[in-house]
Amino acid sequence: MPHKKNQSEVTTPPTPDEAANLLADAGQSSHESEFFNSIPAGYQRGKHKFVAVLGTVMSGLGKGIFASSLAKLLKDKGLRVEPIKMEGYLNIDSGTLNPYRHGEVFVLDDGLETDMDLGTYERILDQNLAKDNFVTSGQIFRKVLDKERHGGYLGRDVQMIPHVTGEVKYKLRELAMKCDADVVFVEVGGTVGDYENGFYIEALRELAFEEGENSVCFVALTYVIEPQALGEQKSKAAQLGLKKLMEAGIQPHIIACRAQNVVAESALEKIAMFSNVPMRRCFSMHDRKSIYTIPQSMREAGLDREVLTRLQLHDRVDQRHEDHARIDWESFVGKLTRTRKYKASIGITGKYAKIRDAYASIDKALEHCSAHLNVELDVHWLDTTEMPASEVGKALESLDAVIVPGGFGKRGTEGKIACVQYCRENALPYLGICLGFQMAVVEYARHICQLAHAGSTEFDPKSPDPVIDILPEQKKIEGLGGNMRLGGKDVQIQPNTLASFLFDEKPQVRQRFRHRFEVDPRYIETLEKHGLIFSGRHPEQPIMQILELEAKNHPYFIGAQFHPELTSRPLEPSPMFMGLVAAAIQHAHPDVAPQEISSRWLKANSSTVNV
Ligand code: GLN
Repeated sequence: MPHKKNQSEVTTPPTPDEAANLLADAGQSSHESEFFNSIPAGYQRGKHKFVAVLGTVMSGLGKGIFASSLAKLLKDKGLRVEPIKMEGYLNIDSGTLNPYRHGEVFVLDDGLETDMDLGTYERILDQNLAKDNFVTSGQIFRKVLDKERHGGYLGRDVQMIPHVTGEVKYKLRELAMKCDADVVFVEVGGTVGDYENGFYIEALRELAFEEGENSVCFVALTYVIEPQALGEQKSKAAQLGLKKLMEAGIQPHIIACRAQNVVAESALEKIAMFSNVPMRRCFSMHDRKSIYTIPQSMREAGLDREVLTRLQLHDRVDQRHEDHARIDWESFVGKLTRTRKYKASIGITGKYAKIRDAYASIDKALEHCSAHLNVELDVHWLDTTEMPASEVGKALESLDAVIVPGGFGKRGTEGKIACVQYCRENALPYLGICLGFQMAVVEYARHICQLAHAGSTEFDPKSPDPVIDILPEQKKIEGLGGNMRLGGKDVQIQPNTLASFLFDEKPQVRQRFRHRFEVDPRYIETLEKHGLIFSGRHPEQPIMQILELEAKNHPYFIGAQFHPELTSRPLEPSPMFMGLVAAAIQHAHPDVAPQEISSRWLKANSSTVNV
């Protein structure tokens, strides 16, 4: 009888027959001698192609930006592309990583907490990703070890090759099949030569061998240094990095050279010669003002055609699709790079204020809006940890809008509450995100509802009026086990509100969440009676998801229990951010008619507020 026990119960190894059944149960037929199979049932070789992007010399080169830009060029041609990020670390996901060290935690629609690079892919490709687009060493090893405990490799020693690399190949092929991808873009985290990603690189080498010629295109990202003292570019580090890749048995087909300035022909020539890659496939990916110009310059350099040739995909190209996509993108880039008509300044409070990556999606959402609304935004990061309430006015008086972003823990929260109060009382446009939504509720309860000691049980477990609280019963209803509420969920929008105006009168929108605390339903009535409007709610349960003030009391005061920044896209920016930025322009330029700033994002009478 096949073993049906769970991992902890398995104490005796199964017999060979049982092991075979187990593998059949798992949908994988066993390799006769090794009990593993890296090819999912039904997989068609040649149907799906792969582009692998690997970094050399150092990390932090922008592999994700490069890979997503290249993937975008192929998507624009009508091909189905699926990115996958392969992380070397042992964590199962990114939920436990400190944003100080690793940048923001990006939440996917299906609730997976991932690396911020997945945000780059979603934004550049304008495509929602899921669990299958992200893998860590921890996930791979867990799968192998679980299989071993269940007797899946009966009688065999479990090895890095073929079992671990086999699992990686299986994962890549499975993604290709599930999504019916023309091209899977594989980004390997870290740098070639790192201990922890070596098995991914070996798996890719094996994949290229097994899939056959013209199935995998290897792209190497490298770095050309330009020491100040020398004043010229040096390609040796790049050459050595590429050599390391070739030592691993991988011949790159395309090389992208990161550098501060345009990479000189002479440096490119050396790199080309030492790595056997013709010059036409060596690309200067120097620093530029905007990453959004990269797809265009890659296309001009012909990199997209080189990939198509290598993968023999020319016959899958839809020229009309490409023409449309190109016009849309170029129009956005045009807006982004033009000299802006307006100026406005936005303050963002946050304890990770020093690290921009910790708020990458907010930064990007503001970038999208500033391009569309023709405004140069001056972003001020405000650390509220040390800010006494008496100094808040001074810190905010010259600003045109304030964002209190998401966060965890008590540090800086009193300063944030003081910022909310200042915005509310001084008609300063305000957007509260997640924690910023909760802080707005606490502020309103304290200063308008006369609940002077209102608080959140996250920082004050003994608060006499815990307006923000953890609600286990609700979590049970949603089946989330009382833990973090994560991923895309529906938000019902109340008609005739600012939220409804922003979301184009849609009755329901889908937004992404990452929180544990929420408004305690016992206080909803009191808050509403005193004028706070909950304009977005859970469709069935009393979970408050958007709050706002009445239009006659404030030009723009809105908070979201979700994270609108996670779904802001270059060509379709987040409505809540668009509204905020439009209100900030109006605040900075009170003499300009709202309709002139934006007839879509500002109501005609929005400047008349009684404060
Ligand atoms: N700490 C708050 C909660 O857990 C807010 C979370 C957030 O801002 N992402 O509910």
